[in-house]
Amino acid sequence: MTGTGRAWIELDMNNLRHNIKVLKSFLPDRCSIMAVVKANAYGHGLVEMARELNKNGIRSFCVATVQEGVELRKYGIQGEILILGYTHPEQLQLLTRYRLMQTVIDYEYAKTLNCYGSRIAVHIKVDTGMHRLGEPWVNIDNILRIFKFKNLDIKGIYMHLSAVDSDRQANKNFTQKQIDDFYYVLSRIQKQGFALPKVHIQSSYGVFNRPDLSCDYARIGIALYGMLSTFNDTKEYNIGLRPVLSVKARVSAVKTLSAGETVGYGLDYTTHHRMKIAVITIGYADGIPRCLSGGIGYVLINGKKAFVVGRICMDQMIVDVTDIENVMQGDIAVIIGKSGKAEITACELAEKAGTIANEILSRLGTRLERVITRSNRSFRCNSAVRKHA
Ligand SMILES: *Cc1c(COP(=O)(O)O)cnc(C)c1O
Repeated sequence: MTGTGRAWIELDMNNLRHNIKVLKSFLPDRCSIMAVVKANAYGHGLVEMARELNKNGIRSFCVATVQEGVELRKYGIQGEILILGYTHPEQLQLLTRYRLMQTVIDYEYAKTLNCYGSRIAVHIKVDTGMHRLGEPWVNIDNILRIFKFKNLDIKGIYMHLSAVDSDRQANKNFTQKQIDDFYYVLSRIQKQGFALPKVHIQSSYGVFNRPDLSCDYARIGIALYGMLSTFNDTKEYNIGLRPVLSVKARVSAVKTLSAGETVGYGLDYTTHHRMKIAVITIGYADGIPRCLSGGIGYVLINGKKAFVVGRICMDQMIVDVTDIENVMQGDIAVIIGKSGKAEITACELAEKAGTIANEILSRLGTRLERVITRSNRSFRCNSAVRKHA
């Protein structure tokens, strides 16, 4: 197989298909998945994932930047593409040339877009308390004015929930208030005689924690890739999602050291006893967090754990294989994924690194080649246990 020489990502597209089916089972019939493929599809590979999503009937995408949208079009991705972030006025011509929809960040930005010269397709974002992007919901008059702008082709209106991943009562109340304020804005728009464009609110956690909402789209990222942001959530929600991605690398050398020898940079590690180590062809430049150095992180070789020894390097790392038999140059080490009966999930790695799976995934380097695989497990939908239902 090509692409598997040094370090690579395997994408199990049957697991993606499974996740789409599971997610659809949570959504009302009229609600479509808007696949969030920003940040190189959470590190999976933008074009590889979008193509496969297209093949599985997904026709709507969200990206963070105009460049990501252009990339999708250049590779022939079909359907609508919404840019969630800010596009500088110098780059507005790309929106029309590549048929991209732009988020209206606020009222000021709506004026800029309206003055551009040709009609731009947009979704209006309403800020209901996240205080990131969106026109504040209290400025209803501004939002109504945007609907009168001649050069804006208003395709959608949306908001983002900022506390929907938590079941604390205060957070649940906040979520409800966000939703109520948004729907109040929508009612005022209708009262003014404007037809409502497409409406969307939920991201992954929103789908599971507020399945009662009935929108036109759900903007789904992390769940499509087969997990929630943390190990605990993924376990507790028990939705039966399957990770799409594995990360693997080669063993480039195996060495036996006697007691008292040092390993890696900075004399950080000294062997206490006779020890066998293996050098692995992946490092922090590939997205492996350097904070997993010094015995915190591990990889799987032949189904067994091999802990990191010393400091993780830019392109390589060294692991302890003293207790693993027959490790040889050219063997495969699993950094995320399954090896024999053992498995390391992106969530577990994230927990060790003090972050969430989203960050671990999205930082995986472009140097890793993406290889498409298709496991032959058949589809079985878990009885969708909902934590907060
Ligand atoms: C990233 C993002 C999403 C997707 O969130 P997930 O939790 O990964 O599903 C949805 N909406 C907006 C505005 C985002 O920035």
